[in-house]
Amino acid sequence: MKKVAIIGAGISGLFFASLLRQSSNYETTIYEKNNSINLEEGYGIQLSVNSIKLLNKIGFQNLNSAHQFNPKKIDFYSLLKKNKICDLDISKFNTEEAKYTTLQRSILVKFLKEKLPSNLMQYNKIVSKINSTTENINLTFEDKSSARCDYLVISDGIFSSTKSLILNRDIKPKYFNAIAIRGTINKEDIKNSIDSSNISLFLGSNFHSVIYPVNKGNTLNFIGILRKNLSEDQLEGYSLFDDKNFLSSIISNLSNQIDQNILDNLKNIRCFPIFISQKIFTPKQKNIFLIGDAFFTFLPTFAQGASQSIEAAFELYESFKNGIDEFTNQRIKRIKMINRRSKFNYFTFHLSNPFMTFFRDLIIKQLVKNKKFIDNYLGKIYKN
Ligand SMILES: Cc1cc2nc3c(=O)[nH]c(=O)nc-3n(C[C@H](O)[C@H](O)[C@H](O)COP(=O)(O)OP(=O)(O)OC[C@H]3O[C@@H](n4cnc5c(N)ncnc54)[C@H](O)[C@@H]3O)c2cc1C
Repeated sequence: MKKVAIIGAGISGLFFASLLRQSSNYETTIYEKNNSINLEEGYGIQLSVNSIKLLNKIGFQNLNSAHQFNPKKIDFYSLLKKNKICDLDISKFNTEEAKYTTLQRSILVKFLKEKLPSNLMQYNKIVSKINSTTENINLTFEDKSSARCDYLVISDGIFSSTKSLILNRDIKPKYFNAIAIRGTINKEDIKNSIDSSNISLFLGSNFHSVIYPVNKGNTLNFIGILRKNLSEDQLEGYSLFDDKNFLSSIISNLSNQIDQNILDNLKNIRCFPIFISQKIFTPKQKNIFLIGDAFFTFLPTFAQGASQSIEAAFELYESFKNGIDEFTNQRIKRIKMINRRSKFNYFTFHLSNPFMTFFRDLIIKQLVKNKKFIDNYLGKIYKN
């Protein structure tokens, strides 16, 4: 039996562990730095059909349907002209078994966690040293304990310190000069300004926001992405993001773009800096793998971070199962494609010049009706 150590109990690590449990060939342990898995967070997450199809392999189709939603369309709005531009049918990629799904992130993490026996998890564990040979890997943790494994799977997220350890240099993601504003809003507070059963995408100036339902109940998720230059000093320690004055200044900055009614009714508002990976790194060792945000962190403008974390975990599992070392090359191809599209979306969603936005809106109206384009632009990602 092969021993597999997974570092980080996020979406990718938990899903990978569940897949490994389908085979009796592996003994798996997840090492998580926190003392528990955070299930408090109420913000939403979008999962496209490519990841739902894979989650169904561990029983996601049996999750209580009241805790999820299947939006059929993305409605595009112009914040500048205060009108609806057009809509895009995302349900065309759905199958009977796998539909585009929105839900609270905590529901997804809880589902993944409950698939695993509790003795598979070890909390308060941060790797401080890794010694590897082609045969096995020795891990030393900050609490001075140690473990031996045959395979090491690194899934400790965007700020992966384990990635820096195996690559022998300090690898930091890049601040993308943008911040995310997250919150929730109740359906009745939207006052019929949008169809709250769809995903509403509002294109503004150096800003875009998205509102979507996270369950069959009353709650909608709000996320806004605002271009914002911040100095290294301001980013240091992230205390700025807990500062009420900073949050107020961001909200008042948005009041000239977002409907005041929406701003007034937003709850649980928080701001986060947006970091992305600068480069793709791959471990030289054949028994060490990166998955999820630790491998590559995308901009959130294609809503593919979690879906790609799930895909990467599945591809790695398949390559374990079939004994074929195709994982890294396939993954890099897909990362590059999605990264280009996420950056292109960011560029088009944030245009501020009225001349440019006029043409952008005209082009989007045409493209959403163009089957060939949609099959290529979305289909290549949604149909894995
Ligand atoms: C604003 C925003 C909106 C997003 N919206 C979407 C969306 O709608 N759809 C979508 O698909 N994706 C979305 N994403 C991306 C998605 O959340 C991430 O891609 C996904 O959570 C990555 O999963 P992961 O398992 O790689 O990492 P994470 O979920 O970050 O988990 C990492 C885990 O590792 C642990 N850890 C960290 N360091 C260590 C260490 N040294 N040792 C041990 N454990 C450690 C952490 O505590 C955590 O439990 C969004 C991201 C942002 C920023």
